[in-house]
Amino acid sequence: MNIELRIKELINKINEWNYQYYNLDNPTVSDQEYDSTFKELEELEKKYPQFKDDNSPTNRIGSTIIDKFEKVKHRIPLFSLSDVFNEMELRDFDNRIKKEGIDPKYICELKIDGLSVSLSYEEGILVKAATRGDGVIGEDITNNVRTIKSIPYKLKKNINIEVRGEIFMNKDTLIKINKKREEEGLELLKNTRNAAAGSVRNLDSKITASRELDSFIYHIPNALDYNIHNHKDSLKYIKELGFNLNEKFRFANNIEEVIEYINEFGEVRESLKYDIDGVVIKLNNIDEQEQLGYTARYPKWATAYKFPPKEVITKLEDIIFTVGRTGKITPNAVLKPVFVQGSLIKRATLHNYNNIIDKDIKIGDMVSIRKAGDVIPEVIESKKERRTGEEKDFKMIDTCPICNSKLVTNEKEANHYCINYKCDARKIESIIHFASRNAMNIEGLGERIIEDFYNMGYLKSIIDIYKLKNYKKELSELEGFGEKSINNLLNSIENSKDNSLEKFLFALGIKQIGSKTAKELAYKYKDINNIINTSKEELLEIRDIGEIIANSIIDYFIDKDNIKTINKLIDYGVNTKLLNEVEVINKENMFYNKTIVITGTLSMPRDELKSILESLGAIINDSVTYKTDILIVGSNPGSKFNKAIELNKTIINEEELNKLILH
Ligand code: NAD
Repeated sequence: MNIELRIKELINKINEWNYQYYNLDNPTVSDQEYDSTFKELEELEKKYPQFKDDNSPTNRIGSTIIDKFEKVKHRIPLFSLSDVFNEMELRDFDNRIKKEGIDPKYICELKIDGLSVSLSYEEGILVKAATRGDGVIGEDITNNVRTIKSIPYKLKKNINIEVRGEIFMNKDTLIKINKKREEEGLELLKNTRNAAAGSVRNLDSKITASRELDSFIYHIPNALDYNIHNHKDSLKYIKELGFNLNEKFRFANNIEEVIEYINEFGEVRESLKYDIDGVVIKLNNIDEQEQLGYTARYPKWATAYKFPPKEVITKLEDIIFTVGRTGKITPNAVLKPVFVQGSLIKRATLHNYNNIIDKDIKIGDMVSIRKAGDVIPEVIESKKERRTGEEKDFKMIDTCPICNSKLVTNEKEANHYCINYKCDARKIESIIHFASRNAMNIEGLGERIIEDFYNMGYLKSIIDIYKLKNYKKELSELEGFGEKSINNLLNSIENSKDNSLEKFLFALGIKQIGSKTAKELAYKYKDINNIINTSKEELLEIRDIGEIIANSIIDYFIDKDNIKTINKLIDYGVNTKLLNEVEVINKENMFYNKTIVITGTLSMPRDELKSILESLGAIINDSVTYKTDILIVGSNPGSKFNKAIELNKTIINEEELNKLILH
């Protein structure tokens, strides 16, 4: 395995997942897959620090901030939590604290599955509510938060204070809302976490109000300023101020008592009114917390024990294959139907050939499967001890199950592909992708309708979507389609013509281009024609784009058929330009898009400075090269300082920097 390539691949994957999860509130993989991929990256980076990339998600919290809301700079950064997945890792956490000479006493709290919020009060009145964002800069959600009944507008004391907690949706509320949405033919909310995040990060406060969100407050970031020296007292104070406190927290004298608490709540978690995904363990003594401090991502005095996912065992009866829009062949397990977290599961993904071989999965095996939210269930492992000898070895197909053309494999990816552009399955999948929510968002053009229209000959390619209006009469006569639903569909198709370039780019379904990369390309190039005419070298200058993605883009636009399709879509009036210059960051600052290197000792922690500069759009690098724009120097600078002078780069000292940042 090429380690450098693997690290790059993991970074791209996680960055895209982060974007889907934090910015679109729409996860595409299970938390377990995310967590194990993240761990793999962390471990590789630790072992091979020479390949560590500044762009790695292990350097930062959350994702980039979107411009929908005003930005709020947190006075004290918000952190994520380190996580542990078993007793051994938990004991390691405990031992690390003991090594610092501390005899730890803990507070255990339930880890509420929602989104964190920071609430600022002045003289007892709520003045600002913000999301965590990237930890340094969050989004201003004050108006929406005012609609949440359990968050007091006025405290019981007239003080200035900032508190932090979790906004979440109760399980019953999700069921109630989804029932209504189903009746109205609307897409269902995925799970309580995403429902809460999507409801709060919504521009319409009325929608937030209708979602009946709830809250628990669990933290005062500067408790010492209120003369509070242990976490238990801060929870007491939180309650006295009038906040909702989760009363299930417990003081633990040692790690054994922590484990008891975890086991107890692991058993009863399903019966709680709200979703929890673990237990948070915090050192009780706040002076000791200060002594331990923070890493770039999390406090060293707390950790989150994540509950193992709910697994269910059933029989794998067969393995069938589906063809995705890029031609990727996915083996799927046909299962003896089984209930997992309230839904009946008949199929689960096996991802790819290597996964089946590595896990030694045979047809007829008893397998454990899991499901998180509504993300596609997956087979985790086969229960080899339960084999009877009747099981059959898995055999990979070598021709496409739909069009019969020969499959090709890609050494770097472990996947098999059907490369026949005319393959029906690929065409249908590419139309489904084009119309989907994060792409052209054509409401009413879902999977089933696309398949029906395809089979009837009305919809053979994405271009045909814009010709459907010519068949209005025929379509409205079809069973199940009234005139009203066809009108709605045609309206939604018309509206899709006005999408901005990033949606269009994502909709094209170019291999490796997720919505995050599509957005970056759109911001840089502004018009599809500029992308068509770009070079690989220019693409490689973009931060998140490496060899694989650049090649994929170039290959896509070299293909004359793709260009023909794009031109046809333009003829039909589809917009291919960046419409709203949605700025992730205010570009009016001297650090925007500049490559910056930091050297010497600064009074601000290096990671904090990096986050601030990154939030201004800077790219931070480790060494001074001809590409460097600015060098920031602290005291006792190293050789980078001389190099920057030699290369005639802009040099800024700490005093100047403070003025520029605070400006
Ligand atoms: P996290 O959710 O693992 O833990 C930190 C968060 O826990 C805090 O920010 C806070 O909001 C919350 N929390 C809940 N109860 C708390 C309590 N009592 N005290 C303190 N904090 C409490 O970390 P994260 O950085 O928010 O998210 C990372 C996790 O999110 C990943 O481990 C993964 O499980 C999930 N994720 C999933 C995807 C996906 O695509 N499925 C993508 C990104 C992240």
